[in-house]
Amino acid sequence: MPLGEIKELQEKKLRQQIDYIYNNSEFYHEKLKEWNIKPSNIKTIEDLRKIPYTSKTMERESFKEGKSVLGKNQTASTKDIIRIHSSSGTTGPPVYFGLTEADVETWSNCIARCFWTAGVRPSDVVMYGWGLSMFVGGIPVLDALRKIGCATIPAGAGIGSRRFLDIARDLRANVFGLTPSFARYLLEKVEDMGLDPKKDFNFEKFFAGAEPGMGEEHIRKEIKEGWGLESARETLGIGEMVTVLASECEQENGMHFMVPDLIITELIDPDTGEVIEWEHEAEGELVYTAIDRRATPLLRFRSRDYAKVWKDDCECGRTTTKVRVIGRTDDMLLYKGVNVFPTAVREMVGQFKPKVTGYVQIVLNEPGPKIEGTPTLEVEVSKDVEEGELDNLRNSIKEVLQSQLLFTPKIKFVPAGGIERSRYKADLVRVKS
Ligand SMILES: [Zn+2]
Repeated sequence: MPLGEIKELQEKKLRQQIDYIYNNSEFYHEKLKEWNIKPSNIKTIEDLRKIPYTSKTMERESFKEGKSVLGKNQTASTKDIIRIHSSSGTTGPPVYFGLTEADVETWSNCIARCFWTAGVRPSDVVMYGWGLSMFVGGIPVLDALRKIGCATIPAGAGIGSRRFLDIARDLRANVFGLTPSFARYLLEKVEDMGLDPKKDFNFEKFFAGAEPGMGEEHIRKEIKEGWGLESARETLGIGEMVTVLASECEQENGMHFMVPDLIITELIDPDTGEVIEWEHEAEGELVYTAIDRRATPLLRFRSRDYAKVWKDDCECGRTTTKVRVIGRTDDMLLYKGVNVFPTAVREMVGQFKPKVTGYVQIVLNEPGPKIEGTPTLEVEVSKDVEEGELDNLRNSIKEVLQSQLLFTPKIKFVPAGGIERSRYKADLVRVKS
């Protein structure tokens, strides 16, 4: 569809969505009144700028305050909601999202459209390798792959790499979807097992998601050449809005926004909050507005993904802008495809007081947010902890970090007071000097 027609469609859906939200969301009804905005004031994408952003904190508040299962922003009745997913909840209480039958259908179509763009076809045998439990990248992805009609193997993330590889070999899977870190990890694992990734496996296509990485050409090259693939493409999504909303096409040079009929995307300056014009090579934080959502819709939701967008007369024929995420706007770290929040690490270690002081610092080999190699977690131990207790303490901390945060740093104990104090904001991360 030409961009002009897409905009017309988006604005028509935006007007309907604003009316729907105003009449059904207790949360936004109050907010819009407080902001002095009537639904009739929002007719175009430009008009959206009158509405303040919705942050994760506001989203969490809307959940806490309401009487409905999903809080004050539950816009569909509970009898119409058929599924609830959640965020990982590593920085605090998890956030829950609801889907009605219509939402599930829309998501399936939209996600399927993205995976088709990423190269998945009905004749494929697909190894699915993300988490299945609660995660929006679980069941909704399986629904979408079903829509495409490929043979999906729901291996999930929890079965272990050895089993994942055995199943892929047994069933001659030709497509796999994983985080880029996991695809790299498996490549090494295969080599350790004395197998040849090209001869002993049947993989032809790879689609990545849930962390940046494929945008770095050396990673794409490593995965593509290491496994001997025809294609290796990146996808992008956000739990609140939809599992996948952008995907690379056969050009493999940036992700097309693939669901403009579901989401309006804006770009803003993360510091000032000012809107950045949607121009070729513009950079900023991605902000999303749902325009076809029944259960828990959000307006101008700040993604915290900092991205570059560009217009490209793509040879594939798709008309939409392309995007690449550069990093998070806050200080989140990425480790083996999993988000690691320094404050969550501190919280986990803090459970071991009084043996520890509660002061920790993550020491990176290279500047973050993506952690290269194994980081070191410095943990301050209290003065009265004896030498003989340290091995047990180390194992207990490791176990908690691994099970709760999937974070597996090398743990280095330092004496009480060994980590520099800050009066303003704790420096939970530093780069090895
Ligand atoms: Zn394209």
